[in-house]
Amino acid sequence: MILPGATLGMLGGGQLGRMFVTAAQTMGYKVIVLEPDVNSPAGIIADQHICAEYTDEGALQQLAEQCDAVTTEFENIPATVLSFLEQKTVVHPSSKALSSTQNRLVEKAFIESLGISVAPYVAIRTLEDIDAISDSFKFPAILKAASFGYDGKGQAVCHSLDDVRNAFNSLKQVECVLEQRINLEREISTVLARSESGEITNFPVAENVHVNGILHSTTVPSSVPEQQALAAIAMADKIADGLAYVGTMAVEFFVSQEGDVLANEIAPRPHNSGHFTLDACETSQFEQQVRMLCGLPSGNCELTSPVVMINLLGDVWGSTQPHWDTLLSQPHNKLHLYGKKEARPGRKMGHFNVLAPSIEQAAEIAAGAFEALKAD
Ligand code: ATP
Ligand code: MG
Repeated sequence: MILPGATLGMLGGGQLGRMFVTAAQTMGYKVIVLEPDVNSPAGIIADQHICAEYTDEGALQQLAEQCDAVTTEFENIPATVLSFLEQKTVVHPSSKALSSTQNRLVEKAFIESLGISVAPYVAIRTLEDIDAISDSFKFPAILKAASFGYDGKGQAVCHSLDDVRNAFNSLKQVECVLEQRINLEREISTVLARSESGEITNFPVAENVHVNGILHSTTVPSSVPEQQALAAIAMADKIADGLAYVGTMAVEFFVSQEGDVLANEIAPRPHNSGHFTLDACETSQFEQQVRMLCGLPSGNCELTSPVVMINLLGDVWGSTQPHWDTLLSQPHNKLHLYGKKEARPGRKMGHFNVLAPSIEQAAEIAAGAFEALKAD
């Protein structure tokens, strides 16, 4: 066990890193963040900020020497960076687990190898791959860049082969996946923590609403039928075992109108849809990440209250700050801001959780609070 007082390393300075830093410091650990941005959400609150590129060998050497264990908040850290650190210190998740999730085609092949279904797709690497798409492939579909996508970036809806050609050219012919668009009944996700000895604890299944490809709200408990929730948890656990994953991770699922539960994406880190755990579970997903990294037993994941989480994008900022006073006038609204200076449309600036005796009440308060806080 790596006990409080020890120093932990975080690769990446975003909001997920920031919430890890807070959880770790609360428990008495020191945290060093490696991040190239001088003003990052995690870097500004860390005990130490190494301001360097993720691939800077001198910086990585320093991180390895100073830290008893290192983790990440960002799946696009080159796997080679983690394997470099693995030679020198404890690293979770492993470079191997991370590399299975960095490319959508590799990720889908891995998920399918476990007997888990994904949305029907074809790999697109050349214009010839588009000519070769069989008539049985159903449109509409979504063309997604295979690497470096997030929050719906690098994606285009296609209704025909010509649309696919245009979108592929717009993406400069990078490696892509063309995915059938599923008629969604709902979207759900599961966040879990897995220890080195393979013990898994699952947070309750979350129900998610996306707007323009970006998460807008998460509701827990979800309205998904028990059988589908259990199926999602079983699949997520199988994926975690298959990756020999150590730490907190999430799996996003599509639930189709036909009742199929299809794996969408693996997040090898805490997940935006797990932010409800900060206020509505005995242990948060970030505390769980600290516990798994340090070889401590996992904390209790039980839900302590129905909850609705709402993301705060830069869009709700105006010429002034949003009306925090109205949001905070309700005693069960919990605000989390990430310390980002500049509010841009689509940029995740923070979130709030609404706790209430029932989901219906939480949803109503959350919707009202979200409307009321929008800046002028
Ligand atoms: P993030 O990493 O933030 O989750 P991302 O850019 O990796 O986003 P995806 O998860 O692939 O993107 O897609 C974002 C959202 O777009 C999904 O949550 C869903 O709402 C919608 N979407 C994506 N692919 C499909 C699909 N095949 N069928 C239906 N909806 C889809
Ligand atoms: Mg996603």
